[in-house]
Amino acid sequence: MWLVGAGPGDPGLLTLRALGAILRAEVVVHDDLVGPGVLDLIPPRARRVDAGKRGGRHKMEQVEIHRLLVREARAGRRVVRLQGGDPFLFGRGGEEVEALRRARVPVEVVPGVTSALAAPAQFHIPATHRDHASMVAVVTGHEGEGKEPVDWEPLARFPGTLLILMGVSSLPHNMAQLRRHGRDPRTPVAIIERGTLPDARLTRGTLSTISRIARRRRVRPPAVVVVGEVARLAGK
Ligand code: SAH
Repeated sequence: MWLVGAGPGDPGLLTLRALGAILRAEVVVHDDLVGPGVLDLIPPRARRVDAGKRGGRHKMEQVEIHRLLVREARAGRRVVRLQGGDPFLFGRGGEEVEALRRARVPVEVVPGVTSALAAPAQFHIPATHRDHASMVAVVTGHEGEGKEPVDWEPLARFPGTLLILMGVSSLPHNMAQLRRHGRDPRTPVAIIERGTLPDARLTRGTLSTISRIARRRRVRPPAVVVVGEVARLAGK
């Protein structure tokens, strides 16, 4: 069984190992952040299961996914669990590997190109830069109901770039918290929606203006929010 990172969307950003695993798969269990071009590479004879979750509502419970993976792997089938970006960065990869290990199902992890880096990179935004940021933190914006709140106070003081995932619906709250805890309101902010997909879009502003701009432009998930001087370097 293979736990595979599908990259941020564009199939050109799959690794060779991910492609090999997909082409040989008999069962593919994917989530809804896997790009359409990547799904097109799944062989027609393979069984496809969409375990995707949308807006906090799970189409498939995590335990159901574990059970399915274990059952299919034990039946001797080549199972690929395909997750958007990298499976170990805000994916369920960690939990799934634990479950598979408990069931004594051997698993190989194939890392993927994370959207946290690839979406900003498409618009020439580096996570770090010798002149602008020597650290980077990848954090969850905890979009959706029933999520634990994020403690923005230490993040406001973090001397580097913030890359916020799952942070569209919570954007106004998160930006206000960063300002409230002392981050400069003029700090550049960039939002990249659907990075590396054909309709990728960049939205720019500052800590004090971005929420209004994002509302006007109807910014929607999935998107990466970049807070920090590097956001100024965005190209078209
Ligand atoms: N493991 C994934 C992240 C899963 S969390 C990875 O490494 O990329 C889901 C969040 O990822 C989304 O809410 C969004 O913030 C981000 N995301 C995933 N795909 C994206 C894309 N193509 N463009 C922008 N953000 C994306």
